[in-house]
Amino acid sequence: MKKILLLVCVLFLTSCASGQVLWVTHIPSGPQVRMDTYHAVAPCETLWRISKMYDVSIKDIMRNNNLCTSKLKIGQTLKILDAAPIRPVVPLYPCAKWKYIIIHHSATDTGNALSFNRSHNARGFENGLGYHFVIDNGTKGKNNGQIEVSGRWIKQQNGAHCKAANMNTKAIGVCLVGNFSEDRVSAKQLKSLAYLVNRLRRYYRIPKSRIIGHGRVKSARTECPGKKFPWQEFWSKLKSDI
Ligand SMILES: [Zn+2]
Repeated sequence: MKKILLLVCVLFLTSCASGQVLWVTHIPSGPQVRMDTYHAVAPCETLWRISKMYDVSIKDIMRNNNLCTSKLKIGQTLKILDAAPIRPVVPLYPCAKWKYIIIHHSATDTGNALSFNRSHNARGFENGLGYHFVIDNGTKGKNNGQIEVSGRWIKQQNGAHCKAANMNTKAIGVCLVGNFSEDRVSAKQLKSLAYLVNRLRRYYRIPKSRIIGHGRVKSARTECPGKKFPWQEFWSKLKSDI
């Protein structure tokens, strides 16, 4: 057993040191019932990533949607037959600039990565969606607690989520859909947030003291992620400090 653990650690460290991307998937804990579904393509989603998200082959997606090219359009709807419960496929890139994780709410009742990408583009944000990750609340065709990876993260671009203290250059921006000045964070969203933050902080060696709400950044004038955000419960779900 010890030998196996050692081998796993060595493989992990080798992959980081050689600059390879570490792909992380989270298998849902609920019943693994397969069903047909539809998927609206979010920014930077590829056939490969969508095939991993639903545990189906690229070949099947292409055949069932009469695709003759692997190029997808943002917002395009794909039919996914016999799909497993969706799971996030999160890449972790060797990169020294990520020193903080900043938590936001969308301050809207509904939304997803695709809709925020549209609204951020309309507001003139360079590179669209300003966050690196979005955690859905069960609206706009997404599951409650679904983690969406932004194109900004795939391309390892600076954020457009917190100008204060120059955080856009060094902080990973995670947005939960909802208005937590008024409503409660759902249990599924909080579970997904803790899962994602634990993964990110362990890989990028980010201490708990650098995981902060937007409104707690020095000189940020906002109550984001809302006065009802359950900080105590969130902290209790984080693994011990690094
Ligand atoms: Zn915010």
